[in-house]
Parts: sequence; structure tokens; C-alpha cells
Amino acid sequence: MAFAVVAYLSFVAMRSAVDAPAVGLQYRLACGLCLALLAMAMSRAKTTWVFGAVSVAYTLMLHAGIGLNIVGLASPLLWALPAMVMVVMGAAPLWLTPTQFLFGTVAFYASGLPVLLNVHGAHDGVYFVCWSWVAISFLSAAVLHGCFYWLRRNHFLLEDQLVQLAATDPLTGLQNRRAFRQGAEKLLSTPDESATFSAIFVDIDYFKSLNDRFGHSVGDQMLHEVAQILKAQTSADDNVSRIGGEEFALLRPGGLRGALGFAETLRVAISGIARPDGALTASFGVAEYRAGEGIMSLLDRADEALLRAKYSGRNRVCAERAAADDAARLKAIQSPGSDALARGASSREPLRQPWDDHYLTSHFQPLYSLSHQKQVGFEALLRGERDDGSVIAPAILFAPRPFTSESDLDRVSHALHLANAARVIPDDAWVFLNILPVSFVAEGYADQLADIARSAGLGPERVVLELLESHGGSVDDLSRAAAQYREHGFLIAVDDFGAGHSNLDRLFQIRPDLVKLDGELIRATSPGARQPILPKLVSLLHQAGMLVVVEGVETTDELILAVESNVDFAQGYLLGRPATTITPPEPVNRRIDHAFDVIAEGRAHQHARFESELHPYRLALDLAAQAYSGGVPLEEAFAPLATLELCISCFILDESGRQVGLEVNGMASAKAGDSLQPVANPRDARWDHRPYFRNAVLRPGVPVTSSPYLSLASGRPCIAVTIAVPTEQGRCVVGVELDWSLERLPWPAVD
Ligand code: GH3
Ligand code: MG
Ligand code: MG
Repeated sequence: MAFAVVAYLSFVAMRSAVDAPAVGLQYRLACGLCLALLAMAMSRAKTTWVFGAVSVAYTLMLHAGIGLNIVGLASPLLWALPAMVMVVMGAAPLWLTPTQFLFGTVAFYASGLPVLLNVHGAHDGVYFVCWSWVAISFLSAAVLHGCFYWLRRNHFLLEDQLVQLAATDPLTGLQNRRAFRQGAEKLLSTPDESATFSAIFVDIDYFKSLNDRFGHSVGDQMLHEVAQILKAQTSADDNVSRIGGEEFALLRPGGLRGALGFAETLRVAISGIARPDGALTASFGVAEYRAGEGIMSLLDRADEALLRAKYSGRNRVCAERAAADDAARLKAIQSPGSDALARGASSREPLRQPWDDHYLTSHFQPLYSLSHQKQVGFEALLRGERDDGSVIAPAILFAPRPFTSESDLDRVSHALHLANAARVIPDDAWVFLNILPVSFVAEGYADQLADIARSAGLGPERVVLELLESHGGSVDDLSRAAAQYREHGFLIAVDDFGAGHSNLDRLFQIRPDLVKLDGELIRATSPGARQPILPKLVSLLHQAGMLVVVEGVETTDELILAVESNVDFAQGYLLGRPATTITPPEPVNRRIDHAFDVIAEGRAHQHARFESELHPYRLALDLAAQAYSGGVPLEEAFAPLATLELCISCFILDESGRQVGLEVNGMASAKAGDSLQPVANPRDARWDHRPYFRNAVLRPGVPVTSSPYLSLASGRPCIAVTIAVPTEQGRCVVGVELDWSLERLPWPAVD
């Protein structure tokens, strides 16, 4: 373009050198200035259409400039034509797209025609020369444009395709996420403040199973059909897009009510699409635009509504949540100076919440990490007190009331506890909040609770929700709700495991981060041997990826057992009672430390006792095995061993773990009950899966001792001592089962 401006200025200079009347130099130079400005504007154009418009103005200005310069000349065409050839050459790169090229070329020649036709006073010879120039200039211009277009053609097409591709989803032909966002932002930036818009978020239900069962091509076909419905049902004013895998978004003018009706129409239309295993359905979330917000925040609210549509059964339309009254009410508890606060809003003094004719307060009971020997959290417990300081009995506090549901008290207690916890609980400790299943699964409560926690100054990751053992909420609902709370960062605990409604299925579906074991479980022992079952239970829960808390630790023995059972956290009167303030942890830490010492000492002692108790049996077994492998008959070889007090039976297993011959009954076999009669006879059974078989085979010639297990022969705890020895028939395992149900018998110190 700069070239054309320079050429024009040379043209002006040449014209000024000719001795003939001319238009004032200032007008002709002003034309050059305009050309220069337009050339600069071209390089700053943001869109191709602005660029095209400036280019056309530029071309017209060139024509006008040539016209101004040739006025007054005797043979204007002789001057005009070379100039116009130059203009054509200079103008060629102006056209960026095929359409612009076509319009630009036509406009260029059309605007040149008046210059050519309005030539007066030329005689025949000059006409000949002129029209020769016309022919040459038109021809050269046409060839130049043609060649230029041909060279740029592929670029033009590619650019067109790129623009198209960048905005379109290839599978459905709808706009993609990026184009949707751009279009939506433009639409929402309307200056009309009264304009309303709504967003609809659509997600196809169970789409993954469709892909998995029938293949991706069927999935693609369904996506295409849904897109066809969206295209058919929407108008040009609606912004429709496939925003992700099987998710679509619409932004349309109008309020929430209209959008809900429209979403319902779409839902019905989509449910008319057949999928190989029934009908295709989709869930919808609808939200209305709030002045000043961005498209992403509007979509977030529609997405939240969609989530509720999913959780409440799919194939339905859900509107965004209205700001809940109760959320405001609960939040009011925390706003300093609110009426709800009975005292101490700005101090670190505990808050009280008026409730009926009394106040609600928070007490906190510490939980200790046994290995770390420190307070790791505090369980918030609700207490009621009167103005005179007297305490309300729990039976009255939690009694059902007219006009308030149990969930109301539950929610109010959460807000109160969180506000209090923020004041008294150390920054590195968790707050354990009890939550009823009915509150836990309530729509939108996860978001509300996260808001309440944050506005109290506690991140949700510092809050452990203890899901109470009570009715309300199916296991499916609970596990879905748990996912929502987790998304906010809350930890989930299942309370009172081992009591009431608890069962393993519930546990494995909710998959809590922590399991709180009912205090009674500490005291539970296996029948007969009176051995605690806690260690095995803890090991099972650890294997399932859950941390274990025991509640109700009241005696040192229970604390020792908790430590010995590898429990992670403990809570109970021995470690700290519920209180409004936090008690220093040092005395308790010493107590836990002491429990560790006791266990370490006891372990050495217990090991020695266990070994000495087993000694005669090991010896007798070794002798029996040597005799048997030396050819002594089975009964005879086992006779001395069978006379020992704890011997239930002696047996021999072949290399594959099957019993060889009959077992020889020992002294303790007479005590064995017959309740397990159907499985009591071990003949033909295989025992190669038992550790006592595998361990003996791994260490041939060495007597090995099993951990206590339940004997199928006697139905009581027992221990097996086994030894692998060579015989004429190949290697076999000789063993004895010992009755280990007597209370005086020590259990192995290690597993
Ligand atoms: P829900 O009812 O909860 O929405 O379950 P869902 O199975 O529909 O949802 P989920 O998000 O688990 O699965 C979406 C699936 O969509 C996963 C992905 O394999 C599939 N998908 C994403 N994009 C495409 C695509 O372009 N074509 C096909 N055929 N499948 C897609
Ligand atoms: Mg999805
Ligand atoms: Mg889906």
C-alpha cells in the first residue's frame, strides 16, 4: 500500500510539472494524505469486513486522486491509464477472501469506468491510443488479479475451513464450546439491562453404558440425533452447542420459567429417540442469567441443577436452587452482631444459639492419634443450657418437636459448631461434626455446609462429617451425597460402626475416610478364648483403605488394646471429656506413651510364655515325624503326642495337602462339641491353602506354628504345629492341632 501512496505522490509531482490548469495542489496532496491514513487503518483492521471496507475506500480514494490530477489536461486518458494500471497492481493484495476478491474487483472496475467515459475533447488519434491503453490496462489488471487469486485460492479456502472448524463440533455440526462461549459472551454483553437470558445444560443419561455395550458408533449416532432435535427445536436467537462429550448447552433469551418449559419440550423430544436397550433420556439443569455475571458462572449454576436432576433419578428437568431461606438463617448465626448470637460475637468466648426456651452450645471432645500421641481432632457435641446455667437433658434436647424437623436442629447445630470450632480448635486439628442421614442427603446441603464452613473460617478439608447410624437415606443416596461432600474437601466418617444399622455393604458403598467403631466393639471378644476381635476388624478396615477410630475408651486396658489393635485414633473419657474449651494434651500423651511401653514389655513376656507352652508339643511332633518317616505306623508314631493335654488330633498331609490315612485323636478331642459335625471329618479335604501347610513346606524339617484359627473339627480356637519330612511316598507334612481355647494360654505376640 505504501508503494501505491508513493506512486500517487510521484504522479502528483509529475502533474505539477505540466503546464496546464490544474486543481489546487493542496487538494491533490490531501488526497495523498487520506490514502496514507487509509493504508495505515488497513493494517489495524480487526475483522476482515472492516479491512474490506477500508480497502474499498482506499481504492475509491485512488480513483478520485487520479481524477483530480487529470482535470485540465488535453489528453487525460494518456495520463489516467498508466495510473490506473498502477492502481490495479497496488490494489490486488487487498482482497483477503474469495467473496471480497469478487466484490472488490467489480467495485474497482466499476468505479474506474466514469473516469474513462467522461473524457471530453479528445480527437480520434488520441482515442485510439486511449482505448489501446484501456485494453492493455484491463487485460493486465485482469491477468494480475486472476493470477493473484489463483495463488491465494488455497489459502482462501483453507482459511474459510479453519474458521469453520474452529467453531464447529464435527460430529454434530453444532457450535463447539469455544464458539459457544464467545457467542454467549457477546449476547450477554447487551447494553439492555432488562433483557433476560437462561442457560440450559443437557447431559445424556447412562451414555457410557451405551458406548460400552453397543460400541462408540452407536453412541455417536445418538449424539447426532440429539443434536438434530436441538437444531430443530431452537431458533436463530438461541445459542446451541455441544459443550463436551455427551453434554450440550443452550443459551436463549427469556426467563427461567420459559426455559424450564422449553427444556421439558426437549426432554420429551429426546426421550422419543430409541436406543438399542430402550429409550434415550437426558437430564436438564436450567438457570437464569443474573445481571453482570459471566457465562461460566451462569453455566455453573445450570450444571449444579443438572447434578440434582441426575441425583434425583435422571430424565428430568431441574431449576437452579433459589437462595434457600434456611441457609440464610443458618448463616445468620455466624454473622457478628446478629440477633441469633446470645453472647461473645467478637470475642473468643463460645457462642450460644437460642432455641425454644433455652440455648444450644458446643462442647468438644478430643480425638488422639495413638501413634503420633497428639490431639488430631475434636468431636463437636450439642448441649442445651438454660439462662441460669442448668443443663438440659439430652432426652429433652433431642425430643421431637412440632414445626421443627430433626434436620432443623441438626443443621443449626452444624453452623453453631463450626462457628465455635473456628474460635477454639487449633488450626491443625479436624472438627468432627455429627450429621443425620436425612440432612446428609438433603439437596444442596453439601454446598451450603461448605459455604457455612468457609464463612466461619474453616476450610471444608478440616471438617470430618460423621454420618450417624440412623434411619433416612438409602445407601445409594448416601454414597452419592458423600461424593458431593468430598468434592468440597470434607472428609467422611461412618459413626458407630458395629451398632444399629451398620453393615459392611453400607460401609463399602459409602467408602468413608474414617470408620468410628462403636465402643462395645473394644470389649467384644471371641467366645471361648476371650481374645479380642478388634485387631482383625481394624486390619480388615485398613485393608479397605479406611482409618479407624475407637470411641468409648474408658480404661487403661481399653487404651492398651486400642494401641495393640493398630487403631489409628481413639476417643473416650480416659482421653478427654467433652468441654467448651480445649484441655492440654500432655497428660493424655503420657498415658498413651505408657500404653505403648506396657505393650512392648508384654510382647516380650508373652512371646516367652507362648514358646514355653508350645515346647513339649514341638518336641513330640518332631519325634513322631522322624518315627513316621522311618517307617513306624501312623498310630504308633503319634501315640506319645496324642497323650498330651491340648492335642485334638494328629494328621499327615501328602504333597498336595490331602490327608493321608485317618487322623489320630488326642486328649482334647473328647471335649470337642459336635455342632460343626458336617465339616468335622477332614478326610479327603485339601489343606494346602492353609498357612500351616505352606509354611511347613517352605521350611522342611523345622516345626512351624500357625496363628490361632477356628478349628473345623472342634469349632474352637486352635493352633497347628506342622513339620515337613521326607517319606518313601514323597514329602509329607506331619501336624498336630492343639486346642487353644483355654483362658490361661497366651496368644502369639506377633501375627
Ligand atoms: P450419567 O447418567 O450420570 O450422565 O452417566 P453417563 O454414563 O452418561 O456419564 P459419564 O460422564 O460417565 O460418561 C460419558 C461418556 O461419554 C464417557 C465417554 O466415553 C462418552 N463420550 C464422550 N464423548 C463421546 C463421543 O464423542 N462419542 C461417543 N460415542 N462417546 C463419547
Ligand atoms: Mg457427562
Ligand atoms: Mg451422561
